[in-house]
Amino acid sequence: MLRIHPKIDFSANCPSDHTGLELEGICIPNLHCLVEATCPTCNAQYYIDLPIGQAIWSPVTLNKSTSEIFEPLEMDWFSQPLRDGLLNQEKSEILPIVHKFFNSDRIIIINCLDFLYGHSLLKLLNVQRHLDESPDLGCCVMVPTQLKHLVPEGVAEIWELPIPIKDGKKWYPSLAKWINEQCQQRKECFLSKVYSHPSHQVYDLDRFVRGLPDISSEVTNYSPIILFSYRADRTWGKTVRQQQANLQNLYGKLSSIFPDMLFVLVGFGQENYIQPSGAKLVDLRSNKFDVELDRLWMAYMKAADCAVGVHGSNMLLPSGLAKSTIELVYTSRLGNSVQDFLFGQHLKDPRDALLYYRMLYGNDVLSDIHPSTIASSIANIVSFARVNSAWFKVGQETSEMKFDMHQKLLKQGKNHFSNPEKRSFINRTIRKLAHSVITLID
Ligand SMILES: [Zn+2]
Repeated sequence: MLRIHPKIDFSANCPSDHTGLELEGICIPNLHCLVEATCPTCNAQYYIDLPIGQAIWSPVTLNKSTSEIFEPLEMDWFSQPLRDGLLNQEKSEILPIVHKFFNSDRIIIINCLDFLYGHSLLKLLNVQRHLDESPDLGCCVMVPTQLKHLVPEGVAEIWELPIPIKDGKKWYPSLAKWINEQCQQRKECFLSKVYSHPSHQVYDLDRFVRGLPDISSEVTNYSPIILFSYRADRTWGKTVRQQQANLQNLYGKLSSIFPDMLFVLVGFGQENYIQPSGAKLVDLRSNKFDVELDRLWMAYMKAADCAVGVHGSNMLLPSGLAKSTIELVYTSRLGNSVQDFLFGQHLKDPRDALLYYRMLYGNDVLSDIHPSTIASSIANIVSFARVNSAWFKVGQETSEMKFDMHQKLLKQGKNHFSNPEKRSFINRTIRKLAHSVITLID
């Protein structure tokens, strides 16, 4: 963490003449935590990123009058919105809604604002570290409204900013002024470093995901529970229509392998309809955020034997809550591999990570990932991962083979793999051609 009041523990040089800058004060107008500074040699004035979140890697220095950016790594996705924000400052007064639990004159500010949902959520996971390691400081957690219900217990204050997550990059002068006033009222203030990718060893999702509805009566009679984390803006297939065909196909194949399955759809987008013609289907998708619906989604994620979805921030909570995860990865997203996985604290043996977390690699529209590939991957995990995990532990944690595997799932998985769909060469070729034609048409 970084002290910002009464003294700022930071120094920087002028990007033009390398003179040590004179620091003037803190400015937190959005996701960036900036310091204002002036060069005593050339008199240039700057906003400089403090080493917080992404700025640990690619801090931005912004000339106040020319808006010139100094950022040698050229991470434009991070620096350009800061410049745009400075040039188009929000005129309306936006202030946090303060939810105070106790007074504290020594605080740590955890700024979870961002313009991407996943980034905000990952920043929030840093709160636990401060609760546990710095109990003498009051945690003040700044979150957009959509994440307020995930702030863990024990914090001093929640600063709920009533803005959509995507607006976390806008420049709010009213917010910067308000935060400075908050700091002036305290004896000492720190900033959390809000590491972008905290390890699962420093957070326990159960402390963030709380107050879920009881869905036991909805799920008791079904096994396995397969959850698809849907998003209409990032599809499995070239179009939403193709995604619908893929999902319908996947649901049908899984229904034949696991007749007692519960297939759950969560996520944003309701552009298409899945015909409930096989095992039990629950469609909880929506076009807008609702906190109670979000809790219901999380309850199903927690109950799921396997969560499936296209790479992205939509996979963070499903991967952290479900017993296993299968992710479909676009070629263009390979550079961000694993960034959207959350792991359970119980995961210690790397073999368990490989058993329970799978990535299926596809082209840039995922049209080459066939539903039967995913169905077999799901069957492999659901039927065999637990027994393999238990077998791997013999000789380590135990000397006997112990596992509480659902015998029916094991049998259904064995049936699937020992009786592959019997198709003639001509039949297989026709199906492959049909899949290609649908892809081309879409
Ligand atoms: Zn200078």
